[in-house]
Amino acid sequence: MSRDPRYDILFEPVQIGPVTARNRFYQVPHCNGMGHQMPEAHAAMREIKAQGGWAVVSTEECEIHPSGDVTPYVEARLWDDGDIPTLALMCEKVKAHGALSAVELTHNGYTASNLYSREVPISPMHTPLKYGYPLQARAMTLHDIREYRRWHKNAAVRAKRAGFDIIYVYAAHDLSLAMHFLQRRRNQRTDDYGGTLENRIRLLREVLQDTKEAVGDTCAVALRFATEEFLGEDGVHNAEAKEIVHHLADLPDIWDVNVASWYNDSLTSRFGAEGYQQPFTSWVKQITNKPVVGVGRFTSPDTMVRLIREGALDMIGAARPSIADPFLPRKIETGAIDAIRECIGCNICVTGDMTITPIRCTQNPTMGEEWRKGWHPETIAAKKSEKRILVVGAGPAGLEATRALGQRGYDVMLAEASDQLGGRVLKESALPGLAEWRRVRDWRVGRIELMPNVSVFRGNALSVQDVLDIGADAVVLATGAHWVRTGIGRSLTEAFSGHDLPGVFTPGDLMAGRVPETGPVVLYDDDNFYLASVLAEVLVAKGLEVHFVSSDDTIAGWTANTLDYRHIQKRLRKLGVHLYTGKTLGQFDGDTVRLDCVWSDDTHTLPATSLVTVSMRLPNDGLYQDLLAREGEWAAAGIGGVQCIGDALAPGLIVHAVYAGHRFAREFEAAPGENGDGDGVPFKRIRHRF
Ligand code: ADP
Ligand code: SF4
Repeated sequence: MSRDPRYDILFEPVQIGPVTARNRFYQVPHCNGMGHQMPEAHAAMREIKAQGGWAVVSTEECEIHPSGDVTPYVEARLWDDGDIPTLALMCEKVKAHGALSAVELTHNGYTASNLYSREVPISPMHTPLKYGYPLQARAMTLHDIREYRRWHKNAAVRAKRAGFDIIYVYAAHDLSLAMHFLQRRRNQRTDDYGGTLENRIRLLREVLQDTKEAVGDTCAVALRFATEEFLGEDGVHNAEAKEIVHHLADLPDIWDVNVASWYNDSLTSRFGAEGYQQPFTSWVKQITNKPVVGVGRFTSPDTMVRLIREGALDMIGAARPSIADPFLPRKIETGAIDAIRECIGCNICVTGDMTITPIRCTQNPTMGEEWRKGWHPETIAAKKSEKRILVVGAGPAGLEATRALGQRGYDVMLAEASDQLGGRVLKESALPGLAEWRRVRDWRVGRIELMPNVSVFRGNALSVQDVLDIGADAVVLATGAHWVRTGIGRSLTEAFSGHDLPGVFTPGDLMAGRVPETGPVVLYDDDNFYLASVLAEVLVAKGLEVHFVSSDDTIAGWTANTLDYRHIQKRLRKLGVHLYTGKTLGQFDGDTVRLDCVWSDDTHTLPATSLVTVSMRLPNDGLYQDLLAREGEWAAAGIGGVQCIGDALAPGLIVHAVYAGHRFAREFEAAPGENGDGDGVPFKRIRHRF
């Protein structure tokens, strides 16, 4: 395969101050939950992106001083010289593949809680901390401002010594002092650093100048800058941002532009399509002579080319697309566009950072496992035998197991009951706003179709006898799960009264097109993630009045971890959905629903002719149980082993099902230690010495 000449422009080098990027693909800084705590894992993850063709590979936020300690979030750190080696490791790995390495220096001001360092947080003004910890940041004195500049300069020098080519000044996401000083609402100081826009820009200008003086001879200085906060005059907004760009125009060597806060920048596909930031950032290039990089969940090379040709961007920035497919540039370069694993915009990768665990990705099950399991997104060990494997069920678990086993070269038979492949992904991606999720299915089906060693049998609901008769050497059951009708879940341990009435619906019913005909509808959410809010949209679109009842104290609470929370709150209110929190299902009689308060004996009655319960799922493991019951017949049927995976084992998210399928394929006939495992722990670890 060779590259389509249309895409040649994407492979032109770009000069960034004193350094040259080999092409226009730029992995902008993104968090990963490994950071300073797991430097080997972090370096291996970044290395694979460099290998995959990115011209620039950046770190996540890198703290410059203990007073900007973002614990419990795990980011990079350059507090003193002792932190240099861990980042030098990343630079070495990245540069070995011809990429430039970049570091995003930051002091997070009042958005750092200093939980580890116990330093007093600092900010332009006295203010409570942003992230809920009950403590205040103190207003910085002029001495503090000088100190902050000194810390930043020292960190820049350390970054240069670590081997970085590009060193950032960070004024984005509402997360750094440099941005807090810019914001009118956060900076009402009356000295030279507050008040007028010129004064509010002063510190950012000084830090840029300091950084250039300190390291600008050999390192490029990047400015990550948010051009819009969507807060009107209270926030940095496009008109003001234009003035800021005019003021600083050619001071940075490259402008890395986006929108703020993080929940607007890393928008899920439910709330924004590819290129959603363009209206807010494409003007920057008209003001500066320096190159501009921007993001927008870009996965289409045609969109990328258009943006470059239109003069909107010089470099294609990507965080999530580089997570879903670290080899995206290489695939475009070699004409393998169909092989790109496109990001689906689900933001499960974000939860990795938020919960302080190594990053994970729905589309790319190897993300975060590069070092500890030795998994590579593109390569996998060849088959160890001529064994034939039967995979039952073509949801995300079965499809990924089939694809990865097929890649290893095994003969795989995939049997699917329905006439379409995709399982839950097919159903959920048909719901409002979730269309991009179909990519999980499409990419895998596309790969499988190219494999002569994989046979797919659609419309084949296998019975236990069928499985025994097929006589595969190994059987993988990925038969999925179903939603319960009883309301049992986190909150209820017994079925609510009336659960067997005809007016009760499950998410499975709605996804199969069995939607309530009459309202009002009570939509009971004990799942607290995205699904109930999506189903609310289905019901409203049908013209039904919806009472959304959450067992939690908030609506769709867990979506705070995927940055969807605020967008969901706004949308449900805009749709006129009635919202109730802290209540569980008591009784349904066909005309009313009784709700029970979770904190007291209070009850509340709502008129409702229909009720949708979103509580929990149970595995479709009948086939697995039947096979276990006939284990004595396996040997005669030639079956060496049976494994149940994905939702059929324990219902979870799509990310869990894909991982389960991939893991099965990697571990099938693997030698001990081949996947980083040992001594009963399924991955490699670094032990502290005592
Ligand atoms: P997962 O998320 O674990 O991949 P899904 O629910 O998405 O699970 O997919 C399970 C798939 O298994 C569905 O497409 C379903 O039609 C299929 N399936 C369930 N039972 C059988 C069976 N006995 N034979 C073949 N396919 C089955
Ligand atoms: Fe994209 Fe989802 Fe993977 Fe994040 S987890 S990179 S949003 S597919």
